[in-house]
Amino acid sequence: MKKFEYMEKHGYEQLVFFHDKTTGLKGITCIHNTTLGPALGGTRLWDYENEDDATLDVLRLARGMTYKAAAAGLNLGGGKTVLIGKADEVKSEAYFRALGRYVQTLNGRYITAEDVNTATKDMDFVNMETDHVVGLPGKSGNPSPATAFGAFNGIKAALKEKYGDDDISKRTYAVQGAGQTGDFLIGYLLEEGAKKVYFTEINENHIEKIKEKYPSVEFVKPDDIYSLDVDVFAPCALGAVINDKTIKQLKAPIVAGTANNVLEDEDKHGMALYDKGVLYAPDFVINAGGLINVFHETKGYEKNAAYRDIARIYDRLLDIFKLSRENKTHTQQAAKLFAKQRIETINQMRANYVKR
Ligand code: NAD
Repeated sequence: MKKFEYMEKHGYEQLVFFHDKTTGLKGITCIHNTTLGPALGGTRLWDYENEDDATLDVLRLARGMTYKAAAAGLNLGGGKTVLIGKADEVKSEAYFRALGRYVQTLNGRYITAEDVNTATKDMDFVNMETDHVVGLPGKSGNPSPATAFGAFNGIKAALKEKYGDDDISKRTYAVQGAGQTGDFLIGYLLEEGAKKVYFTEINENHIEKIKEKYPSVEFVKPDDIYSLDVDVFAPCALGAVINDKTIKQLKAPIVAGTANNVLEDEDKHGMALYDKGVLYAPDFVINAGGLINVFHETKGYEKNAAYRDIARIYDRLLDIFKLSRENKTHTQQAAKLFAKQRIETINQMRANYVKR
């Protein structure tokens, strides 16, 4: 892999490889851009096939974090760490403390957190060696309710854009996936008097849990969720659910949920939704609630302040929808433009010398 070529093309700042012989720790930290602040991104532990796969993954994920943080209005840059290994074989106190020591060497340019195959309790070990870690037990807690609260506000913004009013109670919803975020999202929708909520799931326990918790919510089979005649389709399960096949089936005029990488092909399917008149709330903007929540740990966590910030996803999405209209481009593209503009503007604003 031509690393420098790739870094130059996409404007990366730093790529750090580290290895600790005692614990078997083998990892890569990538810092994409720190214009707005320290790079924040979780640590993913994965049994990658080879080093190039791991490198490409960390590069791609770190860049995504730059746009996510910028669009969320946070003073954070984008970064990520991947660790190469089998989770059930490598994890130990010493392993995560070794990681903490490498995070510390970056001296606050990078802040880590949990991600796939790492947990808050692992971050406690990281925290023994560095202060540059968030998502610790007893602080901002489980990000899922915060993510769902952000998506709920994002749905309201989409209603406002589409219908001119954001009254949740006038509309109908189809939620795909009732796991951690989907469950909370259904709760928020019902609390505001949603006219009708449908959901789909593949996990029997989750189906039963939702039916018991919210008796008014109607279950539909996984394949039937796309063609429901509802106002909002809320993807809260997998990625790539908007693709050539499902776009044809889709009846909802709004797609807005918590899932990551909703569009199978960002440009192709972003544009296809736009052409069909379906309003898409870009995934990395509408699902930033968890990131905003955890960011608040860096300034001493206070739930009300964090949730006030998360609710501002509403205003950000309205700005992005406007940008999409003005530029006649799909909303995913507009969201990237929005993030890039913020980074550039703040960068230029800081160009003059000010003594502190
Ligand atoms: P989760 O695993 O708790 O829930 C996902 C649910 O979807 C599960 O219950 C699963 O059984 C169900 N599911 C899987 N395939 C399905 C299918 N084909 N049809 C219907 N249901 C299906 O995950 P989560 O934490 O709720 O995250 C959901 C999505 O949101 C993911 O894409 C995740 O990356 C994204 N996300 C989550 C957070 C967070 O704070 N948890 C933050 C940002 C983004």
